[in-house]
Amino acid sequence: MKTKKVLLFTLFLQLFMIGTRAQNTSSFTFPALPYSYDALEPYIDKATMEFHYDKHFRAYYNNFIKAAETNSLNGKSMEEIFANMSKYPIQVRNFGGGYYNHAFFWEIMSPNGGEPSAILLKAINESFGSYDAFVKEFEKAANTLFGSGWAWLAVDDTGKLFVAQLPNQDNPLMDIAPKHGKPILALDVWEHAYYLKYQNKRADYVTNFWKVVNWVKVSEFYQKTLK
Ligand code: MN
Repeated sequence: MKTKKVLLFTLFLQLFMIGTRAQNTSSFTFPALPYSYDALEPYIDKATMEFHYDKHFRAYYNNFIKAAETNSLNGKSMEEIFANMSKYPIQVRNFGGGYYNHAFFWEIMSPNGGEPSAILLKAINESFGSYDAFVKEFEKAANTLFGSGWAWLAVDDTGKLFVAQLPNQDNPLMDIAPKHGKPILALDVWEHAYYLKYQNKRADYVTNFWKVVNWVKVSEFYQKTLK
């Protein structure tokens, strides 16, 4: 009887320790999706959102927190890490990019995202000539990207807006990016972001993206770069 109790206690202790070990002690958090999986229907379908957020994003996150642990990145900001990207191994670039870019992407979309602020619209006009010219350049970056990657709208060091087309999970905050800047808008053009609904018709996905852009958030991000 006593042996049984000891055995049970040992088992309980082991389970407790496994539970403790599995707990996430990373300083990097896994953000909640700011809307329901079907909120961006019909432009971005529920199934795509479920796979994209629950599987792809979570895998980037899980791999990044492992890489963060290995490379002693806990406590650092993503901006700080990206500014020193070239000093870190490729896992930090791929998984850190995957983590940050997706968290950013969920934020700049919404079922009712409003319109660009007057000040952002002015900056778009000054940087691209017109809103339509900006859309054309952004769509071109998204549609002509060969392989996997992202289209970006970012603010350079002089305050000017620019469109960037970057491979894989790179972003304009990384010191390895051809042109450095603070991102305010991004579009994931990896096939996993649209293939379930759009198959090979990436251009349709890109066109529909404008219907779910959270311009209120994008304008906020732009405003922050002015400080
Ligand atoms: Mn993705």
